[in-house]
Parts: sequence; structure tokens; C-alpha cells
Amino acid sequence: MRILAAMATAALLALTGCQRGPAVHEYSFFAFGTLVELTVVGANPETAEAARAHAAARLDQWHHDWHAWQPGPLTRLNAALGAGETVPVPEALQPILSEARRLSLQSGGLFNPAIGKLVALWGFHADEVPSGPPPEPTAVRELVAQDPNMADLVLEDGRARSNKPALQLDLGAFAKGSALQSLSAELADMGLEHFLLNAGGDLVALGTRGERPWRIGIRDPVGTGVLAELVVDDGEAVFTSGDYERYFEWEGKRYHHIIDPRTGYPARGLRSVTVITRDAALGDAAATALFVAGPEDWPNVARALNVSEVLAVETSGEILVTPSMNQRVQFVGEPGPHVQVIEP
Ligand code: AMP
Ligand code: MG
Repeated sequence: MRILAAMATAALLALTGCQRGPAVHEYSFFAFGTLVELTVVGANPETAEAARAHAAARLDQWHHDWHAWQPGPLTRLNAALGAGETVPVPEALQPILSEARRLSLQSGGLFNPAIGKLVALWGFHADEVPSGPPPEPTAVRELVAQDPNMADLVLEDGRARSNKPALQLDLGAFAKGSALQSLSAELADMGLEHFLLNAGGDLVALGTRGERPWRIGIRDPVGTGVLAELVVDDGEAVFTSGDYERYFEWEGKRYHHIIDPRTGYPARGLRSVTVITRDAALGDAAATALFVAGPEDWPNVARALNVSEVLAVETSGEILVTPSMNQRVQFVGEPGPHVQVIEP
């Protein structure tokens, strides 16, 4: 898991807080193919339980609606687009597709949800992580040459068509962020003022944990420990893309699941990118786009996406942070000499 939500000290404080401070309700369940942890503070038990039930049901629904490979609205849309048809966009896909298109173009096409065929060619579409071998270079080249991208997805009057047969939608880099964004608004509408919703290390926070702020750990992409800790403010989202999440090794090389649309191969140069944003959907798209951009270019893409709080870990172990992120993170251990502050 990328971000270890409950630090040992925080857990201890929460325990003592139970007697004096507001009630803390903690739930964990599987949804969206990952472990989801919901911590609700200061609500009565009925409201907290209703929030858990709502969160689990909504995440299941979106996982179904936005899944690119298991039969549902998106697979049907992909089939129609692939056949060259102009079709109504199912209601469940309308906001997420136009938002994904907008952010993809804003990222210069590095966050590119139109490369479903490349993702499938690498085998990263399956629930099981593939074991290799990597695909034939000619097959990768052929798909890259067709340049599927979101500019080729025409969305007009509630209808969609594709200008390229190679375009196949995969919302894997964006669905969780969209889901957490919508869900946190819905939980707030239910009257919740303080919660942390952590889905496999990507999270949104509202309010505080009683008298203390929400405090989380960012996973070290190299080991299994915590690289840094930070306080998450009311309404913020923290998203990470990393090469350690889904990958296989073949003949001594690691091939991971974040594909550079320009080469068709796993993006190189970075091991992880963590961003803090006020919008979880933007955070999810941005973490992927900056990861693809790599060690030289990520500041340009961060600027294009208006994301100012970024922590990137290079394959060399060097840590790159923006000035505003640098003010917020506390590194665990002593990576001091390896940290560089980069203006976005
Ligand atoms: P994330 O962990 O949010 O960076 O998303 C990675 C997932 O998004 C992969 O498992 C693919 O399904 C998909 N994906 C891979 N490369 C890209 C890319 N360049 N743009 C958009 N989606 C991608
Ligand atoms: Mg993402």
C-alpha cells in the first residue's frame, strides 16, 4: 500500500482520544480492487455506519460502470467506438469522460486514457498482474504509430465517436480519483465533517482527526517503509503513481503498468510521484501524467495542470520536491542530501 494512513503514534493518540475526544469509527473493506479504509470522526454510530454502507455501494457501482475490461457501460462504448459508430454516451460515463478528455489534453497527452490497446498488449488490463514476456516490439510500434489520444474522441450533444480505430478507453489512471472526489462530496452532504478515505494509498481527507490534523505517511517506493510524513488539510487529496504497484520482471528488467504513450513502453526515470491537490480526480490524472513525463519534464506538466505540491522519486533514489511540498513533508530517516527542491 502506498500511503500508510495510520501512523503508530496517531493510532495511540486516537485510542486515548476515544475517552476524551470525539468518537472515531474505523472501517475497512475491499472495493475498486483495493483495500479501502474509512475513518469517520465525530459522527454518531448510525451516521458513520450509513457512510460506510454508502461508500461501499458507490465504489462498487463506479467500479462496474467505469471498468474497461469487465462487461459494462465502458466495454460497450469501446466496442461501439471501435466499430466506428456514433453512440450516446451512457449517463454513468458522461462527466468522467469529458473530464478525462480535458485533463488528458491539458497534460499534453501524457495522461492518456485512450491507450487501452497498449495497456492490454502489455497484459496490464487483467486483474492478475502479467508475468511476461513483454510484447513484440513491432506490435508496440504499430499501436504507437496510430497515436490514439483523447483529441480523437469526439464528445458532442451527449454522443461519442472516435476518429481512430486504435482508440480504446481505459480509465485505470483516473477512475479512483473521480470516485473519491464524488464520494467525499456525497459523504459531506450526508452530514459528515471529519473523515479520511484511503483507497489503497490514494486518499481524501475532510476536517481533522479530533483535535489533531490528519497525518499520513508516503510509502518509500524503494523499500516497504515510510519515506515521509505529512499533514493533510481539510478537503485535500493525496495521490501517488508508482512503478512498484503492478509490474513483472523479465530477463532481469522490470516492466511496470504506467505506459508512456510516446514510446509504448513503461515510462522511465521515476519510481513514484505523489501529488497533493484539492481535487482527487485531478490528483489521480496528475500523478500519472507527471510519472510519464519523467525526471526532467514533470515540472512543466505540473505547471500545465496547475499542480504545485509534488514529490517525485527518481530511479536513482534522488528525491525531487516542489518548494510548497518541501515545506510540508517531514522525511523519515535521513535522505536530506538526496532531496532537491525544484521550482515547478
Ligand atoms: P495510476 O496508478 O493512476 O498511475 O494508473 C495506472 C493505470 O492507468 C494502468 O494500470 C493502466 O490501466 C492505465 N495507464 C497506463 N499508462 C497510462 C497513461 N499514460 N495514461 C493514462 N492511463 C494509463
Ligand atoms: Mg492516476
